[in-house]
Amino acid sequence: MFGEEHIEVVSRYTYLGVVLTPRLSFEAQLKQKASSAKFAMNFVWGKLFSFLDIPLDCKWSVFQAVARSILCYAAQCWGFREYAVVEGVQLAFFRKVFSLPTFVPNYLVHLETQVDPLCHYTLELHLSYLAKVFSMPDHRLPKIVAQQVITERVYWAEEYGRLVERLGLDDRLECMDASQLRADTPVILGRLHEEKFASFGSRARTSDHFGLYRELNPGVKCAGVPGLDMHTKRWVVKLRTEGLWLNARPYSSVASENCSLCNMRLREDVFHFLCVCPVLAEFRIPVFGTGTLTREAAVELLDGRGWHELATFCTVAWKYRFMLISEYNG
Ligand SMILES: [Zn+2]
Repeated sequence: MFGEEHIEVVSRYTYLGVVLTPRLSFEAQLKQKASSAKFAMNFVWGKLFSFLDIPLDCKWSVFQAVARSILCYAAQCWGFREYAVVEGVQLAFFRKVFSLPTFVPNYLVHLETQVDPLCHYTLELHLSYLAKVFSMPDHRLPKIVAQQVITERVYWAEEYGRLVERLGLDDRLECMDASQLRADTPVILGRLHEEKFASFGSRARTSDHFGLYRELNPGVKCAGVPGLDMHTKRWVVKLRTEGLWLNARPYSSVASENCSLCNMRLREDVFHFLCVCPVLAEFRIPVFGTGTLTREAAVELLDGRGWHELATFCTVAWKYRFMLISEYNG
């Protein structure tokens, strides 16, 4: 009861566009926003994202304006945590742009694009908001609440403490010093970036399914190279991450992983398609000057020696493969 008024008990309530639940969980809110952000992204897809002659940085700017802005609404309050549902939207964008299948793991998408997880951005929003709260006069409610959260070391203050400890930084939250927090923020974000990419790199080096990536130069990426066309980038990123829908693909459950073009009883993986399959030799010769490629030669090409050549070969070889398989199945 509030005065004479009966107050209904509800399991969720939307206040200022944020879905609130009794346990202060943002899951419901984020699921809803992720769905709206994906809808916005798909709406723009046919009009802009699917065109190969539009550069990646333009698409990325539009994604930030159209989808990330919806998704990260109120991240000032929840941005201190990483949520898979939030990361999923950004990853879906890159998978679409590079036409990568779901079996390509998230860490390879990050390594190839060199884009931080979204939690990096939401943490920045959250810390910037905290600095704003710290500069408020002492009688303001947000500052009183922040003081209590810090004193009790709960919720975001608890997460902050864990984060800076993990990153080997000093925890200066108690001071509630806005300029100190503003100065600490880029250091925290820098360390977080290093930590994340060290983890992605380690997973790539120890993966049982994506052996090719281990052999590539970790310093070379093609996704962000300015001036390189999207058509080439798409093929190169697909090859580097072994994201081609071949018979021998990671986690495939097909009866046989062998190549159905040459019948040599060899696994049809990216290496076979790109370097070995004799049925595709006629397309290799005009582009690479040879009917077969060694693994070393393929790695050099993938590391930047022949990105355009790779895209040229893949375009025709992939069409030919598709035609043969359709004929065989038809
Ligand atoms: Zn073959």
